[in-house]
Amino acid sequence: MATAHERTGWGINPAEPDENPRRCPQCETPILPGRALCHPCYVRAEQQRCAFTERAWMTRNYPNYRPRSLFPEDYDQEEVTR
Ligand SMILES: [Zn+2]
Repeated sequence: MATAHERTGWGINPAEPDENPRRCPQCETPILPGRALCHPCYVRAEQQRCAFTERAWMTRNYPNYRPRSLFPEDYDQEEVTR
């Protein structure tokens, strides 16, 4: 598994494959030095951050609305029972 994604140009010697590259903490994909996440994980995390920020803003600025009326898309499905 460690050798599946070796790439040249990412290590100290650019001609040799980097056998222990920096990896995305969420999906173990090798990433370039200086990156915190691989691109798909970054896009997903950024989308979740935007959604969380927007919802926190809506909840704070519309205190008279229940979450069900602010975010009906969360509630139009079958109720989950555990
Ligand atoms: Zn990732």
